[in-house]
Amino acid sequence: TRGLDGRVAFVTGGARGIGAAYVRALHDAGARVVVADLLEAEGAALVADLGERARFAVLDVTDEGAWTAVVDEVVAAWGGVDVLVNNAGIANAGPIEHYPRAKWDAVIAVNLTGTYLGCRAVVPTMKAAGHGSIVNISSVEGMRGSRGLHGYVAAKFGVRGLTKSLAVELGGDGIRVNSIHPGWIDTDMTARIDPSGLPIPMRRGGRPDDLTGTVLYLAGDDSAYVTGAEIVVDGGMIN
Ligand code: NAD
Repeated sequence: TRGLDGRVAFVTGGARGIGAAYVRALHDAGARVVVADLLEAEGAALVADLGERARFAVLDVTDEGAWTAVVDEVVAAWGGVDVLVNNAGIANAGPIEHYPRAKWDAVIAVNLTGTYLGCRAVVPTMKAAGHGSIVNISSVEGMRGSRGLHGYVAAKFGVRGLTKSLAVELGGDGIRVNSIHPGWIDTDMTARIDPSGLPIPMRRGGRPDDLTGTVLYLAGDDSAYVTGAEIVVDGGMIN
């Protein structure tokens, strides 16, 4: 992967699941990685395992003040943020008449507002550097309707729209903004869904490692002229 050696990559929700796979791949490609998550024990263990070029920050992506503090700390220590992967997310579901306001607020806050706050927090340092790559994690559920998942779907469509608008707004500053749309991937989030019941042409569920090539591509210079793009990684499911 071109253009990741020595770069600073910031991954939210990086302590486990797909985020941890992004962290390992970016680190393997030579980047310095910031693992930002609520899960302190998991985040600290991952960073200790990586050793050099890795740091952990406790971050609730819905907390505006925490974003400022953590990004300031990374800029002071490592000089900037070259890559931001807005990966932290939660899912919830339920029929609309039994879907309380609190569930709606939470799913929008983490997936959508958290992504907006992350973009806003890193844009000043990326503008100062004259370059940057923001990779926002949406979902196949950000591309179609899905029974019972309305809050999550609304949030993930929102992430897709935010991505496209920021690509327009920030292109002239050398900042690229793209989205990834995973299908079913084997993590804690999907533990209760059996992939064998899903219409996946490739006839298997995905693994976190199935996403890493895409994140490396979008983070690094191989995608230097790609912005506002959406990449679906789902074994063909939503074709
Ligand atoms: P996961 O639950 O295993 O990991 C999510 C991570 O985000 C956890 O480490 C969690 O602590 C962190 N997180 C949650 N709320 C946070 C907050 N407020 N602040 C900071 N960190 C927070 O889930 P995953 O499957 O690895 O999902 C990662 C991303 O990929 C999510 O955005 C999810 O919506 C998206 N996604 C997942 C799938 C899938 O099938 N697993 C499919 C499409 C999209």
